Amino acid sequence: MMNIMSTGDYQFDVLVIGAGHAGTEAALAAARMGAKTALLTTNLDTVGQMSCNPAIGGIGKGQIVREIDALGGAMGQAIDATGIQFRMLNRRKGPAMHSPRAQADKKRYQEEIKRIVEEQPNLTLRQDAVESLMTEGGDDDRRIVGVQVRGGFVYRSPAVILTTGTFLQALMHTGESKTPGGRAGEGTSTGISRSLEQLGFRLERFKTGTPPRVNGRTIDYDQTEIQPGDDEPEPFSFLSERVTGDQVPCWITYTNPQVHELIQANLHRAPMYSGQIQSSGPRYCPSIEDKVVRFADKDQHQIFLEPEGRHTREVYVNGVSTSLPRDVQEAMFRLIPGLQNAEIMRYGYAVEYDYCPPEQLRPWLETKQVAGLYFAGQINGTTGYEEAGAQGLLAGANAALKLSGQEPLVLDRNQAYIGVLIDDLVTCGVDEPYRMFTSRAEYRLLLRQDNADRRLTPIAKQTGLVEESRWRKLEDKETEIARVMGLLKSHRAEQVTLAKYLRRNEVTWDVLIERLPELAEVSTQVARQVTYDIKYEGYIARQAVEVERQQRLAEKRIPDGFDYESLGQLRTEAREKLMRIRPVSLAQAARISGITPADVALLLAYLEQRIRDHSPAEST
Ligand SMILES: Cc1cc2nc3c(=O)[nH]c(=O)nc-3n(C[C@H](O)[C@H](O)[C@H](O)COP(=O)(O)OP(=O)(O)OC[C@H]3O[C@@H](n4cnc5c(N)ncnc54)[C@H](O)[C@@H]3O)c2cc1C
Repeated sequence: MMNIMSTGDYQFDVLVIGAGHAGTEAALAAARMGAKTALLTTNLDTVGQMSCNPAIGGIGKGQIVREIDALGGAMGQAIDATGIQFRMLNRRKGPAMHSPRAQADKKRYQEEIKRIVEEQPNLTLRQDAVESLMTEGGDDDRRIVGVQVRGGFVYRSPAVILTTGTFLQALMHTGESKTPGGRAGEGTSTGISRSLEQLGFRLERFKTGTPPRVNGRTIDYDQTEIQPGDDEPEPFSFLSERVTGDQVPCWITYTNPQVHELIQANLHRAPMYSGQIQSSGPRYCPSIEDKVVRFADKDQHQIFLEPEGRHTREVYVNGVSTSLPRDVQEAMFRLIPGLQNAEIMRYGYAVEYDYCPPEQLRPWLETKQVAGLYFAGQINGTTGYEEAGAQGLLAGANAALKLSGQEPLVLDRNQAYIGVLIDDLVTCGVDEPYRMFTSRAEYRLLLRQDNADRRLTPIAKQTGLVEESRWRKLEDKETEIARVMGLLKSHRAEQVTLAKYLRRNEVTWDVLIERLPELAEVSTQVARQVTYDIKYEGYIARQAVEVERQQRLAEKRIPDGFDYESLGQLRTEAREKLMRIRPVSLAQAARISGITPADVALLLAYLEQRIRDHSPAEST
């Protein structure tokens, strides 16, 4: 129950600021773990809003959504309920690359997330704009005690999670025009940036951009190519049996040399090129003006026309993110097949905003400067709903764990893409908005989208993040996998067990069914796990050896407050980096860019010596 104190202040265990993708997962996770949580956000009508692309998942990102779901998060179930087109990307490549993606009904997705938040016990959703952070203590022991919101009201709490996205001192650009705001039609937050700077946080600027949206009634689809969804759409959530509802097609068209000439001729009016925007944006998700400059030899760029929902004609023009002036955006569409008569409903724009370089965080997303203060999402220099949701979930869980005096939850790089994401952020920092790719994960074959539940639901169960029914569902699946494995080991074909037979390249599950018809009854999910476990056994075993080596380094803990100054032999560059990042283990130290194997060996020798000399009980 929320307590109202005599001063009129509100009191909660955990406060989450901002109900975007990070904030909603953070608040839901903390509340699921029993913390009395408040989720404060500027506008209740934008809970879970997709600022940019009306889609969830994609390469590297789809895996994260499956992991969020395996940890009990909302994103997977929300997109299953509101998706309008589902596709498994990279289906022709190996299973490590399979990445689910779905177009969302943007408005319905947002409503679904809001509904899930509203249904959650222990969670209060409230419209309030936070203006400043309240802390107590000195530089060495500063801790968060609450926040003040517009109107002067105060919320007190020992844990605050900031998930304010693109809204900190945000400035939107379309051509020469500049408007304060983190998203079209919305305002900006200045007080929080001021508070953070006063507390000694370093803030920097990034930018991102979004394309125009057009009225689908004015598109000539005959001049475009159709892109249908999968015939058998697969859901994101391990709890969803199937995806229901008709699949809506997307459409493809292309830019051409005339469009590129027009853009070149107007580059001086693009804020990125006129000097109006100085900050960096996502390199892999460039604006159309960037593409035309950087890939000058290309005659065309692909454009996906993506419906924003079932009950609106608005269409998202994916591939032409731009901050060119309105008249150039109009002129550009006059030259693109299918869009010659398209009416722009919302113009493209770029937004610049403050983020907090994430080396200022511990691996459980609590800030180093202020105890009890956590950051998650775009504020950490990432981009994307999935990356934000994942960080939110972990920050929420960790805030709740700290309140109950438990160890933080840190996922390893070999356990989850979420582990890779957070480790990259806190260990290496960012020099452009960070998004996930499969190539960032060194153990991709272990971190497949299909086995996220087997990897993470047991951890979530131990942490108190998932309900009993989800756990039981996994237990049933594991029992069934073991039963089917048993069958394959006890039946034979061509003088070998079916398990060995399945290792052959040409042998698929359907071939096995011919040999043992009762396998036709096995569910697709179980058949897939058994097939991958058998076919990739060798690779998986090799990755497991490397994981074990890393694990040994990870177990060498570096005590909090370790005095690097006292390590005279350490190179100055290494000392400075280690003092800035303050790694928690030798494995994390080894991943800091510029830290050499020799530095790690020196640290290891010193830590072992220290343990022998002083405290045999200290964990290594
Ligand atoms: C123009 C634009 C283009 C983008 N382009 C891309 C892209 O191409 N690819 C991509 O992957 N991602 C893109 N994104 C980013 C994507 O929207 C974010 O990565 C994602 O939404 C981040 O989630 P979040 O939860 O961190 O923040 P957000 O979704 O931004 O949510 C922040 C929430 O905090 C609330 N809030 C802010 N200040 C306060 C306050 N003081 N008090 C209370 N509540 C507050 C806001 O109202 C909002 O609800 C784009 C975003 C924008 C705005």
